[in-house]
Amino acid sequence: PKRVPLGTFVDSCVKLVSMRAREKGITIATAFEEAPESVFLDPDKISQVLLNLFLNAIEATEQGGTINVLVTRPLGSANLVISVTDTGCGISEENRAHIFDPYFTTKSSGTGLGLAISHNIVESHGGEIRIKSIEGEGTAITLVIPTKAEQT
Ligand code: ADP
Ligand code: MG
Repeated sequence: PKRVPLGTFVDSCVKLVSMRAREKGITIATAFEEAPESVFLDPDKISQVLLNLFLNAIEATEQGGTINVLVTRPLGSANLVISVTDTGCGISEENRAHIFDPYFTTKSSGTGLGLAISHNIVESHGGEIRIKSIEGEGTAITLVIPTKAEQT
């Protein structure tokens, strides 16, 4: 892990998918609430996770929709919390049990690897991925990432 300026880091992850978003007229809105200016994390790994979440959100969202990304640190917590919320198709209860399984996909040309890989990365960081989804309304995926204490 290394020290990463949070605003720049999240923006650069959004930039990786900006073409794809623009093609569908989708806006990705980022907000930072009580977020630290910088954190210790593995930027290559965590950007891979965010990339997967953004791509899934874009694929699920209708033309012209908005995806909200909230970066926050709960008061008194060492965890960094990043949630990606879309107003897309949502995930059925039946599918929810399988979305972290390798090769599970509901897309005609999906690999089904994005969330499986993301799950592994987050777990190996000692963090977790939480899902809230309502079919037909949208999905919120939340990453809880323990950030290393400031190193000297
Ligand atoms: P892939 O995107 O290749 O299908 P993923 O592992 O990224 O594989 O996702 C697995 C499945 O989880 C998707 O096929 C889809 O059914 C569901 N899913 C993931 N994210 C979302 C989302 N934001 N909205 C709706 N469904 C989602
Ligand atoms: Mg995917």
